[in-house]
Amino acid sequence: MSAKGFRNLLQYISTLDKPRQERIYYEIQRKIFPSTASIRVIDELRDKRFSKGFNCPHCKSNGVVRFGKYNGRQRYKCKDCGKTFSDLTNSPLQGTHYPERWLKFIDCMLKGMSLRESSKIVGVHHVTLFYWRHKVLSALEQMQIEQFEGILEVDETYFLYSEKGKRGISDRKSRKRGGVSQFRGISKEQVCVIVGRDRNKNTISKVACMGRIEKSQVEKSLGSHIAGDTILCTDGWRGYKTYAKEKGLEHYRINTKKTGYVIKGLYHIQNVNNYHGRLKQWIDRFKGVATKYLNHYLAWFQFLETIQFEATTGNLKDMLIFACLFPVEETYESLRLSKFDVA
Ligand SMILES: [Zn+2]
Repeated sequence: MSAKGFRNLLQYISTLDKPRQERIYYEIQRKIFPSTASIRVIDELRDKRFSKGFNCPHCKSNGVVRFGKYNGRQRYKCKDCGKTFSDLTNSPLQGTHYPERWLKFIDCMLKGMSLRESSKIVGVHHVTLFYWRHKVLSALEQMQIEQFEGILEVDETYFLYSEKGKRGISDRKSRKRGGVSQFRGISKEQVCVIVGRDRNKNTISKVACMGRIEKSQVEKSLGSHIAGDTILCTDGWRGYKTYAKEKGLEHYRINTKKTGYVIKGLYHIQNVNNYHGRLKQWIDRFKGVATKYLNHYLAWFQFLETIQFEATTGNLKDMLIFACLFPVEETYESLRLSKFDVA
């Protein structure tokens, strides 16, 4: 190409819109400088994912051999089921052509950016990013603490039921997003989210049921993480009292009129209540989330809390790696067609 032709090319590129310029940038980066960042992430991911030796993501067998490369990536073959896989099989990154874009997208997620804002930065359509978001969150949701330790604060909070994003006329009568319930108090159209948080900040937050909380939901949501020597702090609701009694737990009930906000200077539910407050404030930015995805958003917020909302390179890599450590079976179709269901 002549010097003039090259100048014209540069000139032409400068007239393109931002998304197209970004696309050129990524194409060039991918061809000429295959991202070392994403290669490092994939190496690290392999180390973590197969930390106990290779095992087959299809049948769990560890009779695995290396099986050449495909599209520049190492493949493996299972001697037992005969299927092949890569370092990314069953992870959100499976089949991706642009691992480096995922790093950018995770960065946007850490910064809590909207899909449209992220789309401009990542160079991927915002509808595709919607699925990327939920693939990552579906993996993060599987990241669970083992056991609570010591003093455990438990309290529930409520979100309005929402079918945001659902298309069709059945949606016509639904509230405007983020609307106010037409009923006073806790009604059946509210979604109960239960949060348990111990003093080491180990947290579980998940959708418990529709409408007012029931005692059985406490055990169902948190029970397997509560050891016998856990000290439970809750509000005055009778259900917690019965629950603690049945489980043989030491229990402090905060009834602000009778006990004040703190018992013996130590037992209170202010940490969990502050958590509710921060969660609600953070989730506001999405202008209402569909109830069927609420658990995903709870997991997202929980992750952001553990990294204290710092979008450092380390946290970015960690989030991507965590997201890849848990198998994601959801596909675009299954996400789109999924229904809200409190089992
Ligand atoms: Zn296998």
